[in-house]
Amino acid sequence: MFDFVIKNANLPDGREGIDIAIAGDRIAEVGPKIAAEAGETIDATGRLVSPPFVDPHFHMDATLSLGLPRMNVSGTLLEGIALWGELRPTLTREALVERALRYCDLAVSQGLLAIRSHVDTSDPKLVTAEALIEVRERVAPYIDLQLVAFPQDGYCRAEGGVEALNRALDMGLDIVGGIPHFERTMADGAASVAALCKIAADRGLPVDMHCDETDDPMSRHIETLAAETVRYGLKGRVAGSHLTSMHSMDNYYVSKLIPLMAEAEINVIPNPLINIMLQGRHDSYPKRRGMTRVRELMAAGLNVSFGHDCVMDPWYSMGSGDMLEVGHMAIHVAQMAGIEDKRKIFDALTVNSAKTMGLQGYGLEKGCNADLVVLQARDPIEALRLKANRLVVMRRGKVIARAAPRFSELLLEGRPAAVDAAEYAPLRPGKA
Ligand SMILES: [Zn+2]
Repeated sequence: MFDFVIKNANLPDGREGIDIAIAGDRIAEVGPKIAAEAGETIDATGRLVSPPFVDPHFHMDATLSLGLPRMNVSGTLLEGIALWGELRPTLTREALVERALRYCDLAVSQGLLAIRSHVDTSDPKLVTAEALIEVRERVAPYIDLQLVAFPQDGYCRAEGGVEALNRALDMGLDIVGGIPHFERTMADGAASVAALCKIAADRGLPVDMHCDETDDPMSRHIETLAAETVRYGLKGRVAGSHLTSMHSMDNYYVSKLIPLMAEAEINVIPNPLINIMLQGRHDSYPKRRGMTRVRELMAAGLNVSFGHDCVMDPWYSMGSGDMLEVGHMAIHVAQMAGIEDKRKIFDALTVNSAKTMGLQGYGLEKGCNADLVVLQARDPIEALRLKANRLVVMRRGKVIARAAPRFSELLLEGRPAAVDAAEYAPLRPGKA
């Protein structure tokens, strides 16, 4: 007797017609035609069941602030930075908590149940850190929220940046952040990387830096980050977010760099939506794409996971908490159009990002947490193509969000009465 059985599921690894049995908050069995009785049953009817989506790079202190104190009229990074500068002194704990909780509601509806958020620690009042710590506690039953102490105005560059970051970590933020390309000089950038890695080593924390988010091919802080990772024994615990300068680097140099990154087991976090929006802005034509070298990094065995970065904030007015939209953009920008490519992109939104965040009990194997999403799509590639509807979202064995299947009524004579976009999948001769 199980608490829950999900019948007739397709799994991301390609297995079809699989049942998933759940006892309490764990997956108890996975296999074809599980016979035992269950308190509740969901028939997935041959749709994809995936572990939840995971966003390893987000800014929850800024999300949903679009319009405050005014709109970003030009849509540029510079106006975004100016806007954040106007907004930051006016932030209150209550408003930050309210917006973050509201974003988490959206995330749950999208099957997004783990998020790593950077938290700006530049304002010494640290109201951002206070608020997000409260949010981390309040959403813990349904979202794993990790918080990065992020010296957004520069660790060396901002007055009091060092002290504020340390205080934020004392308050209980989980991860050491950084932004070396924003320090005053390349030397300051390198010094900030070394200092921040030392802090992480001393405190036993992971590192996740905004690193080389620029089109400048000489922005090479990832090299220093890889070296300091090895020096301080932080292998596998360090993430390089963005790494867009790698797009523009000299190929010979990259042939040396990627093995250094692999040696340090750097987790790579490109952010395709914001990267394609903001990079290459100083180019006329041809314009660079400004996303890091996803295919080459994956081929070298690095763990690549994609972040959403921003939703409706001063820097990015779009977004909907949908990691499939992130993956959809990644397929295009990284030109990952092959069948295996697309499967890897789906993994980058799920298992790879769970690895980046160090999540325990993640997956659809026996013994894992009973956290999953039923999608209105046949398989991961179709889910990406459709940015598929999330029909059921489950956390620790309980349904926490659900949606009716999406279809349109059709009022055309001699044509079907309804259209379900998810039924327009590639043909498979000999299969349903
Ligand atoms: Zn970011």
